[in-house]
Amino acid sequence: MKEKRLKTKKEPYVATTDSCKLCAPLGACLAFKGVEGSVPFLHGSQGCATYMRRYVISHFREPVDIASSSLGEKHAIYGGGPNLKQGLKNVMSKYHCGLIGVATTCLTETIGDDTSRLVKEFQDEFSEETLKHGRPSIVNVSTPSYSGSHIDGFQSAVRAIVDQLASNLPSCGNTVNLFPGFVSPADTRYLKEIVHDFGLNPVILPDISETLDAPAAVEYEKIPSGGTPIASIKAMGTASFSVEFGRCLTDSISAAKVLADRFKVPSKKLGTPIGLRETDIFMNTLEEISCRKTPVKYELERGRLIDSYVDGHKYISGKRAVIYGDPDMVVGLASFLTEIGIKPVLCATGAKSQHFHTAIKAVTEGILDETPEVSDNIDFFDIEETAEKFRPDVLLGSSKGYKLARKWNIPLVRLGFPIHDRFGAQRICQLGYKGTQDLFDMIVNAVIQATQDRSPIGYTYI
Ligand code: SF4
Repeated sequence: MKEKRLKTKKEPYVATTDSCKLCAPLGACLAFKGVEGSVPFLHGSQGCATYMRRYVISHFREPVDIASSSLGEKHAIYGGGPNLKQGLKNVMSKYHCGLIGVATTCLTETIGDDTSRLVKEFQDEFSEETLKHGRPSIVNVSTPSYSGSHIDGFQSAVRAIVDQLASNLPSCGNTVNLFPGFVSPADTRYLKEIVHDFGLNPVILPDISETLDAPAAVEYEKIPSGGTPIASIKAMGTASFSVEFGRCLTDSISAAKVLADRFKVPSKKLGTPIGLRETDIFMNTLEEISCRKTPVKYELERGRLIDSYVDGHKYISGKRAVIYGDPDMVVGLASFLTEIGIKPVLCATGAKSQHFHTAIKAVTEGILDETPEVSDNIDFFDIEETAEKFRPDVLLGSSKGYKLARKWNIPLVRLGFPIHDRFGAQRICQLGYKGTQDLFDMIVNAVIQATQDRSPIGYTYI
C-alpha cells in the first residue's frame, strides 16, 4: 500500500500510517513518574492505562503503576466525575502517596469533563478523607491525544506541576532549577552530577533517575523511591536560576516561564546538550551561574571527545543520516552529526512543532551548505517516502525505525523512546561530553559494522 491520500471535495484528507509519536497522556505519566511519591492517574478507560503501562515497562524494564478512573460506555454520556472521585479515594488509601498526577484522555476530553473543577470539588467534598491520607497534592493536566504527541503531554505535565505547586517557600540555598525535558534516567543522573560539581544545588524536574531505573529490591515497592522532592518543587520560586532544555519549547508550555513570570526567577532556554557545541553552551551557562570554572574532570572529558572526533572522522565523514523522534532530541542530534561530518539529510518528528525548522537551521548553518530537509507532524510512511531518495547510510531514532533500517539494509542507532527491541534503554547516555562520547562510539561502530557486513571478503585487519 503506497498511496494513502484520499481526495475529498474540500481538501485532501491525509491518514496517518504508522505514526512517529505516542499519545499525550503517556508523556504526562512519564513526567509524573519523576516526582517523589507520585502516582500517575488517567482520567479515562482501562484500555488507555494498559497500553501506556505496556509501552513504558517495555522500554524502562521497571514496574510502572498507572491508575485509572476506569470509565465505561455509560460515562461517555453521564460524565466521569463520580468515577474520578472514587478512583482518587482508592489511590490515596492504597498508595499513601505524596502526589497524584491526573491526566485526561481522548475520551474525557471529548465528552468535555472539566477535570480541574472535578478535582477541586473532590478536595472540598473529601477534605477529611484527604487529611487522613496525609493530604497528597493533586496536579491535573489536560492532555487530549488527538491534538498533541507524548512530548506535548510530557511538557504540559511538567508545566502543570510547577504551575500548581511552586511557591516562594524558602529553599536550602544556591538552588538551580533544571528542566531537562524527556531524557533517560542515566542522563538525568549525569546532569545532576554536573550541576553539583559546579557547587550548585540542582532541583531537576522531572527526576526519573531512580523511579524508572531502580535498584533490585527485596520487596516490591508500590511507589519506587527517588523523584523530585515535592518540598523542592514548592521552593522552586526561590531558586537563583532556571535552566530549561528545548530549542523547540514554546513559552506556553515552558515551566521556567511560569517561574520567571510569577517569582522573577531568571532563566535561560538552551539546546539539549548533545555534541560539543551544545554542551559547551550548557557548561558556559553553569560557569556564569556558579561563578566557577568548569571542573577539570569535564575539561578532560571534552578533550577526549575531540580526540575521538579526530580518530573516528575517517569512518564517518560524508555519511548521510536520517534522524527522527522528539523535536529537541532531533535538534540536538542534528547539531552533533553536523559537527562530526555526517550530513543529516532528513530531520523528522511526529510532533507538531512551531520552532522545529528554525532550530534545525540554527544548529546546522555555518557548517552545512544548506539546511537539511526538515519535517514535523510526519509519520513513518512519509519518512520512508521522503528519505528513500537520499539513500541514507544510517538511521537514528527509536526502535520503530527498525522496518526501514531492515528494508534499506542500513544500521539503526537506537535512541529516544520507545526502544522495545534492545536492552538497556534506560541506561543510554547521550548528553554532555560523556554522553556524546558514548553516542559517537556507537555511531562509528555501527558504520564500521555495516561496512564489514557488506564486504564480500570480510575484514582482514584483525
Ligand atoms: S490515543 Fe487517546 S484513546 Fe488512545 S491510548 Fe491515548 S488517550 Fe487513550
